[in-house]
Amino acid sequence: MTPSPRPVTSVEDVYHTVEGAGLPVRRAFPTTRRMQHDPFLLLDHFGPVSWAPGEASGVPDHPHRGFETVTYILEGAMEHRDSAGGGAVLRPGDVQWMTAGAGIVHAEMPEADFKRRGGVLHGFQLWVNLPATHKMAPPRYQDIAADRIPAATSADGRVTARVIAGEALGARARIDTHTPIGYVHFTLRPGASIDHPVAPEQNTFVYVFKGEIRAGADAVTVGTTRLALFGGGTAVRLAVPETASGPAELILLSGTPIGEPVARYGPFVMNTHQEIRQAVADYQAGRMGRIRHGSTAQ
Ligand code: MN
Repeated sequence: MTPSPRPVTSVEDVYHTVEGAGLPVRRAFPTTRRMQHDPFLLLDHFGPVSWAPGEASGVPDHPHRGFETVTYILEGAMEHRDSAGGGAVLRPGDVQWMTAGAGIVHAEMPEADFKRRGGVLHGFQLWVNLPATHKMAPPRYQDIAADRIPAATSADGRVTARVIAGEALGARARIDTHTPIGYVHFTLRPGASIDHPVAPEQNTFVYVFKGEIRAGADAVTVGTTRLALFGGGTAVRLAVPETASGPAELILLSGTPIGEPVARYGPFVMNTHQEIRQAVADYQAGRMGRIRHGSTAQ
């Protein structure tokens, strides 16, 4: 079947904000105009920020319930610690897909050595909603090291895909998702063009973080730190002109809408306000646990 490329319906700016204890982020959404791109609840592009020695900051202990947080590091090193006793250091190319489910308390901070030396931190955090049937599931982690993330290159060598979720260029992700999700990091060299299949029922968007692309059926220009949303069709067309001065990089997200009511309050995303009140009460009563900061903590 010939793919029908989706049109770009909007190209949006992101806004600057600060997360946690002082981590600068570009937030693509939620915005006052758009609370979600069902099933995606939030996209933060953090950095690239160049920290002086000892200055790096992050997001100290905080809870989550009812959805998943997905962290993808491009530069620098972050350390994750949580109330279930889990911990991991994320380095460039690593992905952590955390299902908060019924509730967890975690801290997302610069790794100690990285903080001491200083350097560039750059990456993404995406929030993926869970359907009502999975919101109270036990917490789960999928930590995938950079060298275990499937990658593929097009026959002409101009398109490379790192497949975090779903499929691209014949490579299939290792990460398992509760609802159908695609999350692909594309690198497009000058002259590159690809029609990436996305099922017609899925919502999809791209966020460009390096260079400039032409997107969609009408080859709309999308520059660095811009979000482009797509209308109906069976493929997302992405290209970089032969005359471009260098490669472009972007993340493409696609997902089947959950279509349920969304009640959100800070780090909790449920279906009803009553469930939010319960989440706050459970957190305040310590029922999501606490982090034990031992001798290796900063
Ligand atoms: Mn968090």
